[in-house]
Amino acid sequence: MPITRPANHEPLIRNDDAMRYRPLGKTGLLVSALSFGCMRLSEDQDLNTSLIARAIELGVNYFETTRWYCQGQCQQRTAPGLVGRSAGVIVSGKAGIQVDTTAYGFRKEIERQLDILGLTHFKFFQVGWFGWDRVAHLLKSGGVLEALRQAQAEGLIHYTGFTGHDTPENFTRIIETGLFDSITVPYNLINRVYEPTIRRAGELGVGVVAMCPVAGGALACDSPALQDALGMDLPTAEMALRFVLANPAVSTACSGMSTLAQLEQNAPTVKAFDPSGPALFESMCEGLERLREGLGQRLCTACRYCLPCAQGVDIPRHLELYRHWRAFGLTDAARQGLRGIPSANHLARCNGCGECEKKCPNAIPVREQLKELATLG
Ligand code: SF4
Ligand code: SF4
Repeated sequence: MPITRPANHEPLIRNDDAMRYRPLGKTGLLVSALSFGCMRLSEDQDLNTSLIARAIELGVNYFETTRWYCQGQCQQRTAPGLVGRSAGVIVSGKAGIQVDTTAYGFRKEIERQLDILGLTHFKFFQVGWFGWDRVAHLLKSGGVLEALRQAQAEGLIHYTGFTGHDTPENFTRIIETGLFDSITVPYNLINRVYEPTIRRAGELGVGVVAMCPVAGGALACDSPALQDALGMDLPTAEMALRFVLANPAVSTACSGMSTLAQLEQNAPTVKAFDPSGPALFESMCEGLERLREGLGQRLCTACRYCLPCAQGVDIPRHLELYRHWRAFGLTDAARQGLRGIPSANHLARCNGCGECEKKCPNAIPVREQLKELATLG
């Protein structure tokens, strides 16, 4: 595919009447505090096109895509909304790497994603599904880093980031290599696992894209417990966005929006919120800690040592729902989550053998919590 030499240096769009902007690490880019995760775009293409267009109108200037979202249709669903509007907008592409991924293959993947999106260049390209065990494959001679650096030299890519599901410690090690300009990690009121990594990214000037700020919709439900803990009389989704953006190391909250209503709710929330300094974030964290302590130490940490369960029960997922329910008062979200668990992994299969409890380093009374969760129906 012939790729014309990119015009890479147009400034990012901004609309200060409708949006706030924050530095994206040391890149010099000012990214919209609300960014758009394109992984939830639907089959309704008219809606997708309107959503992208309206987001840009509201000053959103970061869109995250990859070929692997939306059953392989994410970038096709994003592209029409970008037509005539992509100048000054970051559209990030993403691809994973395997043991045998070569610089040539990765370059072809970058070009393929540009082609689908109808773009001349990526202001950001991310190495996806990445972890410490893949660093050697990234760095090897003829490997992916060579493709990234070559594409940067040609202006086909401006900046690079990574994302994945490795441990916080390993993600911190990757940040400390200095190889990447940004990290993208899940982060929200009820999932603060990567908070130490985010803090370190802030110290090193690495941009932080916080995914799942409303926990995939779980934080759209009412939670008086969270309102009490945070001292805010606001809808949970609004508190959730405020929490993420109160963290000074976060560059942008990347929300996977699929309706105009979500966009029209989130953009004004972000615009209205001015965290002004770390004090608010610290007091929100203290409130969340009090909430946790109130429940004692009997909450699953998702370490997965109890697996496999001979009956196929997905224990960590159930206990995550238990935590949402008991610690955060997200009863409806927990009930919906329970209904979404496939029958092969559902707590209904538990025969009470107790093997999981023998393996659990945190002495979680798994059977008792499963039994309690079952009462949600
Ligand atoms: S071993 Fe215990 S803490 Fe770890 S996932 Fe299982 S129940 Fe949770
Ligand atoms: S008690 Fe239930 S969840 Fe635990 S290992 Fe046995 S069958 Fe699985």
